[in-house]
Amino acid sequence: MTQDHTRPEVNIGLVGHVDHGKTTLVQALSGSWTDKHSEEMKRGISIRLGYADATFRECTGLEEPERYTVDEDCPDGSTSEVMRTVSFVDAPGHETLMATMLSGAAIMDGAVLVVSATEDVPQAQTEEHLMALDIIGIDNVVIAQNKVDLVDRDRAVENYEQIREFVEGTVAEDAPIVPVSAQQEVNLDLLIQAIEEEIPTPDRNSDAPPELFVARSFDINRPGTTFEDLTGGVIGGSLVEGELSVDDEIEIRPGREVEEGGQTEWRPLSTTVRSLQAGDDQVDVATPGGLLGVGTGLDPSLTKGDALAGQVAGEPGTLPPTRHAFEMDVELLDRIVGEGEVEEISTGEPLMLTVGTATTVGAVTSARDGECEVNLKRPVCAAEGVRIAINRRVGARWRLIGVGTLK
Ligand code: GDP
Ligand code: MG
Repeated sequence: MTQDHTRPEVNIGLVGHVDHGKTTLVQALSGSWTDKHSEEMKRGISIRLGYADATFRECTGLEEPERYTVDEDCPDGSTSEVMRTVSFVDAPGHETLMATMLSGAAIMDGAVLVVSATEDVPQAQTEEHLMALDIIGIDNVVIAQNKVDLVDRDRAVENYEQIREFVEGTVAEDAPIVPVSAQQEVNLDLLIQAIEEEIPTPDRNSDAPPELFVARSFDINRPGTTFEDLTGGVIGGSLVEGELSVDDEIEIRPGREVEEGGQTEWRPLSTTVRSLQAGDDQVDVATPGGLLGVGTGLDPSLTKGDALAGQVAGEPGTLPPTRHAFEMDVELLDRIVGEGEVEEISTGEPLMLTVGTATTVGAVTSARDGECEVNLKRPVCAAEGVRIAINRRVGARWRLIGVGTLK
């Protein structure tokens, strides 16, 4: 099989505590700044979850790890060869919400956990994000011990030991820990090598009908555009299976809420794929991996302001059912980071549930040992067996308390 490795084929999440250097690292590896909205606007895909593609290359005349680079020019004067293009999913600085990280996790094939060497381990979000990876089952993890330029050798070693101890018994137990400086661009070759080894491109079934998890949706028309010049609504997300082509008919579920005779119901949207943008390129056929912008024939008012975020798009008649309520098996965490023990789920309590890229609030209608039923405020399109991150309101925040499996 021939493959064009300049297109992103794997999604890698950047997780970890605020200010530990996630965005700086993405910038160093991809040359683009995920916090910067103008760059994203240029690409038509913006804000909330940041995305940036990075092409890993190798200078074949050099030894490991020096041969690994993101530059085209090698120190020996030769041109580097493309190994693989990855898509980084980074939560912008102001978005420290777990909900954003969790809905991003639905499309992550692996993760880089960034831990600053300047602080004790673990900081709150380091722990919370690692728990989320654990819960969602993302076990291809690389740890970047960042900001090593700011500490002396003893402190770096001590911090390294703290990280080792902290990840014991988690999905990151055997993850390589790579000391780096994102800002000074130190050891990025080692980091690329570790990512290449630990986070392979998943085997995907391209014969399956296409299924796209929608993470963003928007209206790309400038205000005042006349009706004849309007461009249809755009959805952004990741294909988890199959291939999507220009001119394909697609269905989007749950779709939109319509009111008729005092009754409201959710109806799937049907439309045609008019354009496909993978990374910076317009393509005719898109394959899984990376973020895809899908131009549709939908009225842009339907896609404006992330209105379709969390929905699922695919071949008509093949998508999972729309659910307004469901039953799930529940496994609670032992404790909430910084808060102590997790109490049982009780009937009547509201839970924030992340199902795929969807985030919805559900009221618990019945709770038994290890099981509960919820009634959703907004329906979700989800298949039996999917994993659901369960959050409970503690004080002013939703906190991760466990994982559900849809029955
Ligand atoms: P994020 O919140 O995890 O995305 O962190 P940022 O990437 O925004 O970085 C937070 C701050 O740490 C910024 O001022 C960066 O310039 C700085 N920073 C990031 N990585 C390094 C590093 O390796 N060394 C040093 N000295 N500063 C860094
Ligand atoms: Mg950031």
